[in-house]
Amino acid sequence: MLRPDTPIQFLKGVGPRRAEAFERIGVGTVEDLLYHAPHRYLDATTVTPIAQASVGTDVTVVGRVVSKAVVPTRRRLRIFRAVLRDDTGVIECAWPGQAFLDRTIKQGQLLLVSGPVKYYHGRQMTPREQIVLAGADEEGDRGGLILPVYPATEGLTHRQIRRLVQEHLDRLLGLVDDTLPDSLRRESRALPLAEALRAVHRPTEPGEPEQGRRRLALDELFDLQLVVARARHLAKAAKKGPHFEIRRALTSQLKASLPFELTAEQKRAVREITADMTASERMHRLLMGDVGTGKTVVALFAMLLAVENDYQAVFMAPTELLAEQHARTLATLLHPLGIVPEVLLGRLSGTEKAAIRARLSSGGARVAVGTHALFQEHTTFHHLGLVVIDEQHRFGVEQRAALIEKGEAPDVLLLSATPIPRTLALTLYGDLDISVLRQKPHRQAPVKTGVRANSDRLKVYQFLRERCKAGRQAYVVYPVIEESERVDLKAATTMADELRSRLAPLDVELVHGRMKAEDRDAVMRRFRDGAIDILVATTVIEVGIDVPNATVMVIEHPERFGLAQLHQLRGRVGRGAEESHCVLIADDRSARERLLRFARTSDGFRIAELDLKERGMGDLAGKRQAGGFALRFADFDRDGDLVDGARRAALRLIAADPDLSTSPHTTLRRRIERRYRRGMELFRVG
Ligand code: ADP
Ligand code: MG
Repeated sequence: MLRPDTPIQFLKGVGPRRAEAFERIGVGTVEDLLYHAPHRYLDATTVTPIAQASVGTDVTVVGRVVSKAVVPTRRRLRIFRAVLRDDTGVIECAWPGQAFLDRTIKQGQLLLVSGPVKYYHGRQMTPREQIVLAGADEEGDRGGLILPVYPATEGLTHRQIRRLVQEHLDRLLGLVDDTLPDSLRRESRALPLAEALRAVHRPTEPGEPEQGRRRLALDELFDLQLVVARARHLAKAAKKGPHFEIRRALTSQLKASLPFELTAEQKRAVREITADMTASERMHRLLMGDVGTGKTVVALFAMLLAVENDYQAVFMAPTELLAEQHARTLATLLHPLGIVPEVLLGRLSGTEKAAIRARLSSGGARVAVGTHALFQEHTTFHHLGLVVIDEQHRFGVEQRAALIEKGEAPDVLLLSATPIPRTLALTLYGDLDISVLRQKPHRQAPVKTGVRANSDRLKVYQFLRERCKAGRQAYVVYPVIEESERVDLKAATTMADELRSRLAPLDVELVHGRMKAEDRDAVMRRFRDGAIDILVATTVIEVGIDVPNATVMVIEHPERFGLAQLHQLRGRVGRGAEESHCVLIADDRSARERLLRFARTSDGFRIAELDLKERGMGDLAGKRQAGGFALRFADFDRDGDLVDGARRAALRLIAADPDLSTSPHTTLRRRIERRYRRGMELFRVG
C-alpha cells in the first residue's frame, strides 16, 4: 500500500538509478514527488496549425521532426535546422549557433516550439524555446494542453518526470491529508489541497497553476505562523519575575533633561512599551526604525522604568565597538540623572570584568551595557528586569526563544534598524509585538544621493579630496561576493592603493571581512577617532556604527547590492549636522533606473518594499532570517494578503493547543517537523 512516506523507488517506473537521480533533486518519497512542482508551463492551448503560421507572427506550433541537419555558414556560425510536420503542413526551424541541439533533438520526436516566423527561402521559424513532447515512437501527451515542465537533473529528463507524475497522480492525490483549518481555507479563497496539487500538475486552464501554487503558499505561511505563534506563546507565558508600575521618577527626570521633545511616534512607542511592561504578561517587543529615528532614547525610557521599579536593565549590542558607542550615548543621556552605566567589554582586564560582574550580581549596578556574548557567559544579575537587544536581525525566531528560556525571564525589547514591510515582519517577527518609528526627529537634510558613471571617476576623486581637506571623512565601499571573493578582494586592495596614490597625502585604509576581528576593530576605532581620512571597506560596514564626521560615501558596483542593503550602507553617513553625500558609481545601463529610484527615496520602509518586489523571495535577507524555513511556494510580495489570515488562525490554534499535541493537530506537528526542522525545536522546549 502506498503511503506518503513510501520511497519513490516503489513506484512503477522508478528503478535504483532513477531513484538516485530523484534523490539529487530532493525527491525521496512519493509525497516529495507530489510537491515537486513544475517550474514553468507551456501553453499549448494556443498552438497554431503549421499551415497558418504566417510570416511576421510569433507562434507556438507542435509537430514531428521529419528531418534535421547541422549547417555551416560562411561566417563560421553553425546552425541547427529541423523540419516539423503536423496534419496541416511543414515548417523549417533554425537555431543559429546551437549545433549542440543535434544531440538532443531526434528524428520522429514530437516537438513544441515557439518563436517568430520570418521569410528566408520560404517560411522559417527561429524558436526562442523548444521542448520535446514525445519520443519518436510515442504518442503525444494526452494530459491537458497546459504542459508542466519540471526541474530535471542528469539522468532524469523533465519528460520522464512528467510521465511518472501523470501516471501516478490520481493515486498520489488519494494520499493527501488536508490539515489546513477549513475556515482559513475558505476565507483565503484557496483550493482544497488535492485540487491544488492537481491544478499544479495537471492544469486544464492557464490560470490554474497559479491557484494551486497559492494554496501551497498558504500552507507554508500557515506552518510558519504556527511556529511563530508558538514562539510567541513561550515568550509571553514566561513572565515570572518583573513587576513594574508607573512611578514617574527617573522617566520624568529623563523627559525633563532631554534637549528635545519626543516625536509623536516616539511617544507612542514609549506608551506601548509602558503598557507592555506594566501588564501581567511579559514584554516581547520589537522597536523597528531606520538609523537615526531615535530608538535609543525610547529604549532608555524602558530601561529607566525598570530601574525606578528597583530592577536592573541591560543593553546588549552585537559587537564590542557598538557596545562602546551605545555606552557613550547612554552615559551622556544618564548623566543628568546621576546614573553611571556599567560597561562590560571584552578588552577589560579580568579583575575589571570580575568587579563589574560582582556589582551586577549584588545589585549595586543598575544599568549595564555590553555584548550579547559577555552577558551570556556566567554573568548573574541581582534583579534583572529588562533586556534591550540592539540589532536583533541577526537572530532568528528560535534564537530569540532560546534567549528567553534562560534565567529570570526579564522583559525583552529588541531594536532593529532594518525596516521591513509589514507582511514580512509578521512572519519573521511574528513572535514579537512591533512598534515602528518612521520619521527622523530633527529636520536633518536627507543624504544627497547621486548616480555617476565610471567616466566621472576623476571628478568623484576630486570631490573626495575637497571634502577631506575640509576636515571630513569618507567611506568607499567595494562589494565582495562569496563566489568571486579572491578576485573581489584583490580589486578592493587595488582600489585602496589607487586612492592612496591619487589622493596623497590623505590617509586611506582598507578593512575587509577576512581580517581578524581585533584588527578590523582597531582600524574602525582609528577611523572613528579621525586618524584615517578614507576608509575602503569590502564588507558591509558595521551596522549602526556612528562616525558623524564621515559625510561622504562612495559605493562601487552598487548594482551588486540589493536596495535595502544600499540603504543600510547609506545610513552610515548623514549622522552629523553637516550635509552628506552618497555617490553610486555605476556603468551598467540596466541598473541605472533602479539606482535612480533608490537615489530619490530616503524612506527605509519604502525601499524595503521596492527591494521585496524586486527580489521576491530570492536571496532576501529575510529569507536567511527565516532560518530553516525554506519557502518554496510562498512569495511575500504576491501572497501578502494571505499572511494576516494565516496569522490569526495560527494564534487561535496555538492558544487552544499550545503543543499541537491533540488530534488532529498532531498531523500538523508532523508536517512542521518535516518542513521546518529548526522550527520544531520550539515545540520541544515546551
Ligand atoms: P537610532 O538609535 O534609531 O539610530 P538615535 O536614538 O541614535 O537613533 O537618535 C539619533 C539622533 O537623534 C541622536 O543624536 C538623538 O539624540 C537624536 N534624537 C532622538 N530623538 C530626538 C527627538 N525627538 N528630537 C530631536 N533629536 C532626537
Ligand atoms: Mg542607534
